[in-house]
Amino acid sequence: MRDIYLLGATGSIGTQVCDIIRAHPEVFNLVTATAHTNIKQLREVINQFHPEYVSVGTHEAKRELQELFPNQEIGVGETGLIKAATYEGSDGLLVNAVVGSAGLMPTYQAVLKGRDIALANKETLVIGGDIIMPLVREKRISLLPIDSEHSALMMCLKNEPKESVTSLIITASGGSFRDKTRAELTGVTVQDALLHPNWSMGAKITIDSATMMNKGFEIIEAHHLFDVPYNRIQAVLHQESIVHGLVEFNDGSMLAHMGHPDMRVPINIALFYPKRIPYQAQQLDLTTLKKLQFDRVSTKRYPLFKLAIEAGKTGGITPTILNAANEVAVMLFLNGKITFLQIEEIVLECLNKFKQTKSLTIEYILETDEVVKDYVHKQYS
Ligand code: NAD
Ligand code: MG
Repeated sequence: MRDIYLLGATGSIGTQVCDIIRAHPEVFNLVTATAHTNIKQLREVINQFHPEYVSVGTHEAKRELQELFPNQEIGVGETGLIKAATYEGSDGLLVNAVVGSAGLMPTYQAVLKGRDIALANKETLVIGGDIIMPLVREKRISLLPIDSEHSALMMCLKNEPKESVTSLIITASGGSFRDKTRAELTGVTVQDALLHPNWSMGAKITIDSATMMNKGFEIIEAHHLFDVPYNRIQAVLHQESIVHGLVEFNDGSMLAHMGHPDMRVPINIALFYPKRIPYQAQQLDLTTLKKLQFDRVSTKRYPLFKLAIEAGKTGGITPTILNAANEVAVMLFLNGKITFLQIEEIVLECLNKFKQTKSLTIEYILETDEVVKDYVHKQYS
């Protein structure tokens, strides 16, 4: 049995992780689970899996949950999240499926504890990759991606010597506005933005896909995960979302990982690695595919894609500024406070306004995350 510590149990990824745990009761034991405010769903998780410890985002949510489960140990806020991630026990797996920078500290603390990690929370690596990855290597733990493109790259790289790898390529669907020109983005609605053509995901990543910030994040994520320089990582538009990632080798050949878009495939890979386990995914019938298209990503059409890669290359605190500005801007857009195009403006404004003042530490990342978020809230709420 493997103990699972699941952060973000009620989200899009978290729910699918729960389904997989439920399908393999002889393999996994859910020990801790967290949610932000979705008590209704966390209640189901408790009823089904009887975790030893759960945690929620607010005191109000805690009170509500405690009334339903008087004997359940319940935590709250960041302390609760970290306790859920580092809960007693050995040989378990932290599955971090929280959205946003809130995922960084629990990952960091679990790494310090020497716990293996399956990471959906890409923001951890975007803002903290320079600190997290050296620690992962030092502690000799495994940190595996729950992100379709990186899972694909990991599978393509599995048996290959590092020196034979020329480049990493990830694909981008283009998001919900891929058929619109920039001019047509003026006045698009939240509802339209949430209609992703190929993937059903949480609200924040769906908006990040529409701005292509997500793909910029994923290039930073790939850089940290696979220790490959930015000039050897690319993204291409691929509207069918059948090929998820490709690795190019020094003999001119490429390996690609393909399949219908289904996050349960990369989740299974991360949970069972290095084993591959049977799963009834929709079968890929090559003869009905007819064509697979690949195009260049236009940085004019998707300026946040470019800004994210530049922030990654600059490194230090810059990705934290980028991410914090984006996180609040996306939330404000979802709440109808700003327009879709203002997300870009706010990110650019913050990148110009805030600068690195000292060397990178976890504390400096958290402090900057808060300062930038406060600024955007005050200016635009
Ligand atoms: P979601 O919004 O559906 O779920 C987020 C989860 O995090 C929920 O359980 C919520 O309760 C919790 N949460 C929200 N704010 C929190 C906070 N401040 N503190 C603690 N917990 C909080 O998001 P999702 O789509 O499941 O994405 C989760 C992560 O996985 C993101 O980093 C995303 O980029 C990444 N990811 C998602 C997908 C996907 O298909 N959904 C694919 C690849 C990567
Ligand atoms: Mg992805």
